[in-house]
Amino acid sequence: MKALVLFGAGRNAAASFYMFSSDNWIPICICDNDQSKINTQFVIDGFVLEVISPECVMKRYPDAAFYITPDPPQKFEIIEQLLNNNIDISRILNYEPFCYLHSCDLIGKSINFTPTQLHHCCSASNGVKPPLICDFHGGGFPQNRYVDSVNKLISANNSEYSPCEGCRNFHEGYFSVQKFPINSISINSYMHCNLHCSYCRPSGWVKGQYGWWDMHESAVYSIADTLIGMYENKIISQSTQINWGGGEPVLAKNFSDCMKMLAEKGIKQIINTNATIYSESITEVLLSGLIQVQVSVDAGTPLTYFSVKGEDLYYSVWDTIAKYAKVNSSSITVKYIVIEENSGEKDFLEFINQCDISGVKNIAITPEYNLLWRGHYSDSLVRKIIDLYLLLQKRGFITILHTDYFSTEQKDIIFNSINGVEI
Ligand code: SF4
Repeated sequence: MKALVLFGAGRNAAASFYMFSSDNWIPICICDNDQSKINTQFVIDGFVLEVISPECVMKRYPDAAFYITPDPPQKFEIIEQLLNNNIDISRILNYEPFCYLHSCDLIGKSINFTPTQLHHCCSASNGVKPPLICDFHGGGFPQNRYVDSVNKLISANNSEYSPCEGCRNFHEGYFSVQKFPINSISINSYMHCNLHCSYCRPSGWVKGQYGWWDMHESAVYSIADTLIGMYENKIISQSTQINWGGGEPVLAKNFSDCMKMLAEKGIKQIINTNATIYSESITEVLLSGLIQVQVSVDAGTPLTYFSVKGEDLYYSVWDTIAKYAKVNSSSITVKYIVIEENSGEKDFLEFINQCDISGVKNIAITPEYNLLWRGHYSDSLVRKIIDLYLLLQKRGFITILHTDYFSTEQKDIIFNSINGVEI
């Protein structure tokens, strides 16, 4: 058995301990920079690990190996600290090359497939135009062009002209320089959707009219072959997360085959579906725990559902949700995007009842991001979000409230109102 120091007494420490407790390594202590943690004890399953300072570790265990428990960017700060203390790379078990520059965690780690192009990120997550990798219409993944594009983007972002300037995710800090496997794939290669949500459709839209989301299926390439090739070439792995977005994934060409194939390889997937169409394949894979299904219902009454979604499918959606929840309720999250037209008390209460009836346990509440990013998300809507959050908490639901992109003032309103409630 070889001596191992876990660096970081935070939330990943226990998982890291389990990773090594049955291996050739024996965790001998936890090291942390936080003075308030030094000389405390970390108890995991009756096993006691002392928390000591880095200086103390260097003296006491001059030959021990290190495993860094925090995720990047903190992980890289610790690697730098160890290297500055003359700890050889070979003694850092989860060493990863990194650098300090202007970038974001997605560059070199994420790919967004759109109907005709590959991008470095998805427009829904940042608020500026997603940087382009290259045109793409299916087939093998253009690995060389991707690497070239990552290098060019990093270099441009650290020059006078920065394509990512203005994006909320763009910042100065530590970033991994290891390109593969890629952490995250967004599949938005098909745009067809059978709903016409008010936050998606252009103003002035009338029922029956086609929009950008109504792309014809013949124009859509199959993503399955591309992803299989990426897996075989180690561009993606079991640590990669696949996000099905775009239009409605269940309507996408080869969705079932592709989703099952990825699950068979142990790759985790998030499926953002509107649940208007029940998928036997989703039910089959749900038990594996490898897929998370997210359904944005955004209404508590059939009338509101019709107004927000443009179709009269409220009860069939809850029917599908109940079928999925029956198989594995911990893998289903029902989402509520709070906007003016769905934020009445009746909608909130009925929505909560339907979650109960359908066996749903996990709820996510979000603002409408286009409104938020344009600065049009009112404080009164923020208060509605808080109302819904507190109602759900009272009824014992596991509730996630996405607060990332609110203004500082709006975050203050939220945190002051739900003081003591964990988000
Ligand atoms: S900084 Fe923003 S725009 Fe640039 S790649 Fe990251 S998320 Fe996309």
